Amino acid sequence: MSSTSRPVALVTGASSGIGYAFALALADRGHDLVLVARDTARLDALAKELGDAYGASAEVLSADLSDATGLAAVEARLADATRPVDLVVNNAGFGTSGHFAELPIDREQQEIQLNVLALVRLTHAALGGLIERGRGGVINVSSIAAYQPTPGNATYGATKAFVSSFTQAVHEELKGTGVKCMVLAPGFTRTEFQVRGGFDSSAVPGFLWQDAATVVEHALRAYDKGRAVCVPGPLNTATAAFTAVTPHAITRRIAGVVVSQSEK
Ligand code: NAP
Repeated sequence: MSSTSRPVALVTGASSGIGYAFALALADRGHDLVLVARDTARLDALAKELGDAYGASAEVLSADLSDATGLAAVEARLADATRPVDLVVNNAGFGTSGHFAELPIDREQQEIQLNVLALVRLTHAALGGLIERGRGGVINVSSIAAYQPTPGNATYGATKAFVSSFTQAVHEELKGTGVKCMVLAPGFTRTEFQVRGGFDSSAVPGFLWQDAATVVEHALRAYDKGRAVCVPGPLNTATAAFTAVTPHAITRRIAGVVVSQSEK
C-alpha cells in the first residue's frame, strides 16, 4: 500500500482501449494511478475523470516506451521506494500486419522494443520493491495470438508468445514471495488496436468481440485469485485450449489460410 494507504497502480497504454479500462476499474477499486502513454492530453483528461468519478489521485507520466529515455523514466518511477507502486499493468503494445519481408524493419523493431523489451524492463524495475514488501504484483498483457505462429502478423504473434512464456515463468519463480505475476491473453477486443496496426478484422463475427471493460473485469477477477494466466471469456478460452494442444505445423497452416482468404 502507498503511504496514503491507497494502493497505487501503474498502467501503461492508459490513454486508450484496455489500458484505459484498467485505469477506470482500478480507480473504482480504490487505487490511485500512475498513467503512462505518449498522448499527454488524453492522460490529463483521464486523470481528471478518475478524480471526479472515483476520488482517485492520478499522476500523468508521458513516455514513449519504445524509446530508451522514455522507458528509463518509467523504470525510475517504479524503482522509487519513496512512492511505492503496488500493481503494474504492462499493457502498452501494438501490432503490425503484412508479410514480414515487405514490412519496414524499423517499425518491427519498435514493436519488439515496446511489446517485449519495455515489458521485461518494467517488470524487473517493479519486482525488487514488490518482493521486498511481500505483496502486490504485475499483470502483463499478451494475446491469444501467443498460442500459435501468426502469419500476416509474424512479429506481433512472436512478441506475445514471449510475453506469455516469460510471465508464466516469473509467476513460478515468485511462489512464496507474496507477489503475483499474471499474463492476460485477450481475444478480439474493441479498441483502437486494429486501426492502429492496419488489421482488417471486417470478417471477424460479432460474437467473437469483447469490450475492454469486460476483458479487464475477467483479468482483475483472475488476478485476485492469484492465477498465472487469464484468457477472458469461454470462446477465447476454448480457442486457446485448442491451439495449445494442436501442433504448430497445423495451427500455423490454419492461420495462414485464414490470412490469405482475408487478403483476397
Ligand atoms: P489501443 O487502443 O491501440 O491502445 C494501445 C495503448 O498503448 C495506447 O494507450 C497507446 O497510447 C499505448 N502505446 C502505444 N505505443 C506506445 C509507446 N511507444 N509508448 C507508450 N505507450 C504506447 O489497443 P489495445 O487493444 O487497448 O491494446 C492494449 C494491449 O492489448 C496491447 O498490448 C495489445 O497487443 C493487447 N491486445 C489487444 C487486442 C485487441 O483486439 N484489441 C487483443 C489481444 C491483445 P499512446 O498512443 O498515447 O502512446
